[in-house]
This record gives sequence, structure tokens and C-alpha cells, in this order.
Amino acid sequence: MDVVFWGARGSVPCSSKQKITYGTNTPCLEMVFSDHERIVFDAGTGLVSLGNHLEKLGFPNCDRIHLFFSHFHWDHVQGLPFFKAVYRKETTLRLYGQPGIETVFSSQMTAPFSPVPFEALPAKIEVITLDAPIALGDVRVTPIPLNHPQGCYAYAVEHRGRKILYATDTEPDGGPMDASLLAGARGADVLVMDSNNAVEELEQRRGWGHSSWVDCVNLAQKAGVKKLILFHHDPFHDDEKVTQKQRLAQERFPDSFCAYEGMRVKVSREP
Ligand SMILES: [Zn+2]
Repeated sequence: MDVVFWGARGSVPCSSKQKITYGTNTPCLEMVFSDHERIVFDAGTGLVSLGNHLEKLGFPNCDRIHLFFSHFHWDHVQGLPFFKAVYRKETTLRLYGQPGIETVFSSQMTAPFSPVPFEALPAKIEVITLDAPIALGDVRVTPIPLNHPQGCYAYAVEHRGRKILYATDTEPDGGPMDASLLAGARGADVLVMDSNNAVEELEQRRGWGHSSWVDCVNLAQKAGVKKLILFHHDPFHDDEKVTQKQRLAQERFPDSFCAYEGMRVKVSREP
């Protein structure tokens, strides 16, 4: 079970020479299992890179792709119209998330925004509204509601005794959502979490629905996770600022790393 990051930036891809190290594609990560159908989280612009990569390989294990949405803000949906797998009639794409997936994409992929209507995509698209855990073979995916404008899901992914928690776009609520996120993170091998805000930005950004590296470290320590991946970097933070965030986090939680495009995290346990 590996996690591959195709986009680690939040809000908007805003490229510059000062942001090469971590990249600027918006959220998309893949969980890779040997001999398993593809499981992808979020359709930010990183999904475009995943599609290009799969095309080069000849679309292996792509007849059925499972795509889970944390929520539908632009930075989490913008890559779907440019994901090459949706232009293959052999692909079945299953979209999972909160209610409204069909409305989101039939409004996004329509005139005058898109030359190709959502309904005309060659791939077979199936929509599954989630409010409870779902099993995909021996992989179990559990949605956990987060504190974010219009709502958001974290996903706990469990496979043969290993667990990854993907928790993007969340702000501590000081109440029930913090408690359910803590329960979901408990004992995880890897916690991938929203670290958008610098600590000095927190006060002016209350209610925006994002966390800082301090919130990530606090949760990682309380929940006893093994590795913390800081994710959803602010689009206006350059490489130096993101690296500084990693350094600060490592002082309190040494196994902390900032996600970057192309990063692959192995999640395996000794037999
Ligand atoms: Zn976001």
C-alpha cells in the first residue's frame, strides 16, 4: 500500500520558479495496492498528471477507477475534464462523495465553460453518495465529516491492518468534529493533513476552513500516528516557506514531511 501525490497545493495552481520543489497542482493523491483497481482521492489539477502518466503506461488497471471527493471546491474538481481516462470508453469511473456529484459536474462541464458536456464523456460514469464506510474488496474506506465551508470528508483507508487518514480542508472546531477526526486518526500509519495556513495567518483566516502545521502535529501526537504528511500548501507560499513549515513541524514531530508532486510514501509493515 503506497500513497502517491499528484498534487499537493491548495486553492489554485499558481506556478512560479519559487514553487518548483513542492509543485502547484491542486489536490490529487492515489493509493496504490498490488493487483487492485485504482483508488484516487480528489480531482484537483494533479489528476491531469495522473492521467498523462497512465496514458504513457497504456492505462493499466484502469477499467475501473474509484475516485473519492473530499468536497467540491474548485481546487478539488478542476482536473476531471482533463483526465485522459475519461476519454476512453473502456473506463468505468466510480465517483464517491457527498450528495450532488452529478450536479457539480454537469454544471462544470457544460457550455460556456467546457466544449465537452459531462454527459458526453466516453467513459462509463457511476455516482455513489457516501455516508457510511464502503468496502472495495479488502480495502475499507470510511468518510469522516470535517469542519469546512459547505462540508468536507476526510477518508480513513484501511487495508490488511494498515491505515491512512486523508484529511484535507479542515479547521479545528474545538468540538465534535475534532473528536471524530481524532478517532479516525487513532493509530494511523500515515496522516495526510491540511497545513494551509502559517501560524501567523491563523487569526485573519478564522472560518476559512483550514489548519496550520501546529494543528497537524497536535493531532498526530494525540492520535499516535507514525508519519505525518503536511498537505494542501498555500498557493502563495514559496518553497522556502513550505520547507520552513516542515522544519518547524519536525522539531515537535520528527516524522513530518511536506507533500510534493511525485512523492511516494510506502506504507508497509515488517512481517
Ligand atoms: Zn482545498
